[in-house]
Amino acid sequence: MKPSRIYLDYAATTPIHPEVWKVMGEVALNVSGNPSSIHAEGRLARTVIEESRKTICKSLNASLSELFFTSCGTESNNTILIGAVRDLGVTRIISSPLEHHCILHALDHIARHHPVEVVYLPVQPTGQPDLEVLAEELKRSEGTKTLVSLMQVNNEIGTTIDLQEYGQLCHDHGALFHSDTVQAVGYTRYDLDRMPIDFMAGSAHKFYGPKGVGFMYIRNDHTLQPLLYGGSQERNMRSGTENIAGIAAMAKALEMACDTLDERSSHMMARRSQLLEGLKKVIPGLTVNGPPMESCSPKILSVNVPEGPRTDLLLMNLDIAGVSASGGSACSSGVESASHVLRHLPVRDGDKTVRFSFSPQTTAEEIDRVIDIMASLTSTTAQVLSSTKD
Ligand code: PLP
Repeated sequence: MKPSRIYLDYAATTPIHPEVWKVMGEVALNVSGNPSSIHAEGRLARTVIEESRKTICKSLNASLSELFFTSCGTESNNTILIGAVRDLGVTRIISSPLEHHCILHALDHIARHHPVEVVYLPVQPTGQPDLEVLAEELKRSEGTKTLVSLMQVNNEIGTTIDLQEYGQLCHDHGALFHSDTVQAVGYTRYDLDRMPIDFMAGSAHKFYGPKGVGFMYIRNDHTLQPLLYGGSQERNMRSGTENIAGIAAMAKALEMACDTLDERSSHMMARRSQLLEGLKKVIPGLTVNGPPMESCSPKILSVNVPEGPRTDLLLMNLDIAGVSASGGSACSSGVESASHVLRHLPVRDGDKTVRFSFSPQTTAEEIDRVIDIMASLTSTTAQVLSSTKD
C-alpha cells in the first residue's frame, strides 16, 4: 500500500479541527442573520459573536473591550501599526529585520508616507533581537513617542522572545509594545491583564481554526481609528459584516488549544527532538537555525543541509517523496534565494534550509520515515537508499 503523505508544514497553516468544523458548520447553517440587525435573527448572530469574544478574552485574560475581530493576522498587524502612527502620535518605531512581511512591508509603507523613523535592531545568531541594543535605542527614544514591534515566535526558525522581558523594558522607557503573536496564539498562555503588552495579533488558521478570521488586542488605554470605514462594526474598529461562523470557530479552536496546551507542547517537543537527533545522525554537517530548545517554539525545526550533488531540489524531492515541508516562509516558498530571515543568520553559502513544523498528531513513525527520506535524498552514494528499504 502506498504510504500516506506526511504534512510537516503546520507553521504555514493548520487543518481545521473536526470539532471546530462542527461548530462552524452549525453556525453557518443556523445563524443566518446580520449581527447589526435588531430582529431575532440579528440578535442571535450578535449573541454568537459576543459569546465568542467572551471565550477568547477568557483564554487571554483580556477585557471584552480590548478584543476586535478581523479577517487575518495581516489585517490586525497593519491596523495596529498604522493606527499607532496616525492616532497615537508615534514617530519612532523599533523592530527587527526578521519580522513577518506583514510587519516589514507595513513599516516600509509607514516610513514612506509618514514622518516616522524606523529602526531595526541587530539580531543574535539565534534570531533574537539584541536586548542591550534595544535598551540603548529606548534611552535614545526618551521624549519621542515610540512603538516597539517584535514577534513572539518567528515563523521561519521558531525563535521566541520573552514578552514579559521585552515588554517591561519598553514600558520602563515609556515606549509602547506590540507583538505579532500570530505563531504563538494557541501555543502559549497569556495573562494580558498583567502583561506589559499594548497590542497583539492572532490568526485562527494557525491554531486549527478556519482561514480568513483573526483578532487584534488593543489595550484599553489606547484608542485607534479603523483601517476600513463603513458600517462601524466591532465598535467602529473594523467595518464589514462579521464572519460569524469563522469567529465562532476561532473561539472554539482557541478554547480547545488552551485546554490541551501542555500535552500538545510536550508531544511536539518530543517529535522535534526526535527529528533533529535523527537528522544529525544521517546528514553530516547539518546545522540548526534558532536558539536551543528552551527558547524555541516546539512546533518549528529549521535545519540547514550542507550543499551536495543532490540537494539542489531538496524541497521538491521531499514533496515527491510524500513529505510537505517549507524552505522559508510559506509566502516566499518557491523563490530560490535565501529568505529575508535566513539572510540575517549564520547560514553557510549553498546550504539548503528546510523548515519542518509539527502538530500534536505527528507520529514517531512519521518522523522516522522523514529521517529515512532525508537521508536518501541527501546521501552522495546509493547506499543509504538501499538501507532504508530494510
Ligand atoms: N505573522 C506571522 C508570524 C505569520 O506567520 C503569519 C502567517 O504566516 C502572519 C503574521 C500573517 O497571518 P495571516 O495569514 O492570518 O494574515
